[in-house]
Amino acid sequence: MQNLTALDILAKLVSFPTVSTASNLALVDWVEDYLAAHGVRAHRVFNDDGTKAALYASVGPQVEGGVVLSGHTDVVPVEGQPWDSDPFDLVEKDGRLYGRGTCDMKGFDAIALAAVPKALKAPLKRPLQIALSYDEELGCLGAPRMIAEMAKTLPKASVALIGEPSNWKVVNGHKGGIGIATQLRGHEVHSSILHKGVNAVMEAAKLVDWANRANAAGRAAEPGPIDALFDPPWTTAHVGTIQGGTADNITARDCRFVMGLRCIPSESVEDWRARYLDEVARVEAEMRAIHSDARIDTDVRFDVPGLVPEPEGEAEALARRLTGDNATHVVSYATEAGQFQQAGYSSVIVGPGNIAQAHQPNEWLAASELEAGEAFTDKLIDHLTAD
Ligand SMILES: [Zn+2]
Repeated sequence: MQNLTALDILAKLVSFPTVSTASNLALVDWVEDYLAAHGVRAHRVFNDDGTKAALYASVGPQVEGGVVLSGHTDVVPVEGQPWDSDPFDLVEKDGRLYGRGTCDMKGFDAIALAAVPKALKAPLKRPLQIALSYDEELGCLGAPRMIAEMAKTLPKASVALIGEPSNWKVVNGHKGGIGIATQLRGHEVHSSILHKGVNAVMEAAKLVDWANRANAAGRAAEPGPIDALFDPPWTTAHVGTIQGGTADNITARDCRFVMGLRCIPSESVEDWRARYLDEVARVEAEMRAIHSDARIDTDVRFDVPGLVPEPEGEAEALARRLTGDNATHVVSYATEAGQFQQAGYSSVIVGPGNIAQAHQPNEWLAASELEAGEAFTDKLIDHLTAD
C-alpha cells in the first residue's frame, strides 16, 4: 500500500467491476485502506440503500482555499461489446493501458490517489481534497450528496478539477441535461370510434413533436458567443425510445418515453423542464377533456446543471498553469463539474485520455497520460505550497 504508483493503483481500481448497476463498496474499501495506510482518514457518503458510497478525503491544513480532484468510481457496462481481453484486468500493450474505466475515469482517480503520499510530504499551505463519486454514468446521481457533505465537514475548497477525459485540455463549459420519464395513460376503445377514446400513442406524438419544434427553433436562433462554441449551439430535445399500444385497432391505453434535454449554458435546465411540463399539462388537459381517467405522469430521472464558463475563473487559470493549455474547449456531455460549480466551487474539466475511447470496447488510456498526470499533480502540489 505504501509505495503504489498510479499504474499500480489503476490496475487495482480496474479490477473492481464497478458498473453502475453493481455495488462499488469493495473499491471504496480498498481506497479507504490505501488512504488509511498513509494516515489519511476518508469519509463515506452512502446512497439510500447503502449499496454504494462516495468517498472523500483531505490532505494538508484544514483551511479554506484548497483544490478538489474529482472523479467517479462507476463505469459503463461491457455487455455486448467485443473485448479482446478481460475488461476488468488491466492489460498494458504498446503503450496503451486497456481495461474498462481506464479512460473514463479510473485513470484520473489513480493519479489523484497516487498524489496523496507526495502531498503529505509537502509543506501544503492549502489542502488537497479528493472526491470520488458513484452513479455518475446514470446521470451524475451520486455527487450532489457528496458535495453537500463536503461543504458541511471540510473547509471550503475554492477550486474543483473534474478529471473527465480531455487529453489534459482545459474544458470550461458543458451542456446541462435532464431526462424526464413521461408516462401517458389514455382510454381504450375500438379505433372505429376513436373520438370516444384517448390514444396515448397519438397524444405522446404531440409531446415528441414539441421536441421537433424546440429543435427547429433552436437551430434557427442566433447563438450567443459562449453557446456558439457548442456543437450544436442550441438546446436539444430528444426522444430515443418509445413504447405504447397493444393493437392496430385499439386506441392505445399506455405510452411511455423519456424526454432528454441537453441545455446550452445560457439557458437553464429548470426553465426547460418548466417549459416541457407546461406542454405536458396542455396535452393532459386535452386528454382529460375526452376522458377523466386519462393523465400524464412525469418523473425526473436525472438533472445535471451545465458548466458555465467563468470569466477570470480561478479553476481555469490554475488548470491552464498546470497544463500549459491556453485554448478554449467546451464539450456537449454532462459531468459533475456543473454540480461543483453550482455548489460554489470554481470548476473546470481537465483529465487524461480521449473521450472517444470512453465507453468503448477495448477502452484504453495511453500510459503517457498517466505520466502526464504525475507531472500535473506535482505542479498542483507546488501550487498548494505557495502563499
Ligand atoms: Zn466519466
